[in-house]
Amino acid sequence: MRKLIQPPGSRQPRAGPQAMRTGRKYDFANVLFAGPCNQRCPYCIGQQLPTSLNPDNLDEFPPRNLETYIALVKQHNIQQITLTGTNTDPQLYQHEARLLRCLRANLPAAQIALHTNGQLAREKMDIVNKYDRATVSFPSFDPQTFASMSGTRRMPDLAAILQESQIPIKVSCIVNEQNAHQIKDFVANCHRIGVRRLVLRKLYGDSRQWLVLPDLEPTRHFRGNPVYDYRGMEVTYWRFENTTAMSLNLFADGTISAEYLLTKAAQSTYIAVLPEHPSSCGVGS
Ligand code: SF4
Repeated sequence: MRKLIQPPGSRQPRAGPQAMRTGRKYDFANVLFAGPCNQRCPYCIGQQLPTSLNPDNLDEFPPRNLETYIALVKQHNIQQITLTGTNTDPQLYQHEARLLRCLRANLPAAQIALHTNGQLAREKMDIVNKYDRATVSFPSFDPQTFASMSGTRRMPDLAAILQESQIPIKVSCIVNEQNAHQIKDFVANCHRIGVRRLVLRKLYGDSRQWLVLPDLEPTRHFRGNPVYDYRGMEVTYWRFENTTAMSLNLFADGTISAEYLLTKAAQSTYIAVLPEHPSSCGVGS
């Protein structure tokens, strides 16, 4: 049985989700957590979202609407799932390992990724290594710049995370006026410590153009974003406005949104399928 649903208190749907309207396939799916964070990044996207999407769910198992979400992931044959957060870090989720087991049991063919700020990565390396891959958001190697961009002086040891992990680790770096002048050194440092894939991200809505690798020509483009080869390290300059990726997002309040840009989720249609065969997430996992 299939029907449109919304979490209590949410607005009426305006139109069908983009994937339904266009018939395009989803590229990936996000499970989003909300709650207090161990960083206070001034550009945190969670601050731009309606508070109703962000109830603290760090101690909630299973996440609201998970079974419906799993049914949708199956229905659309989505192969990539990312655990991430709107205003918190997914490694602060108290049931991280349990949720991973649940997703593996219900979606055995899916690749599961972690998107973290890295603050807890070494402490929870046994869990990190249970993912298929991880992305660590890291804005600067300079302590002052790191503190001003993350709101904390506690800088994760990125080199140690790379050494201790047994899965591929991608590094993601927001570029803004605070670190744009350091990007050349940042890229060199990432290469020196063994990063294989680096993504430089422009903030959504930032119309400024940063010269990230002025001496290099892109070797290709991925979804409209230039990809460079820096001494064997893949560097992508990701500009959200140019992104055409489609994702299915499960928010902390149970909202399921087909909008990739999380800030548009509150305006989008929420779609869900009631599972005929519920997943086993609630049972003994
Ligand atoms: S680490 Fe992520 S969730 Fe936490 S404050 Fe920074 S941007 Fe927001």
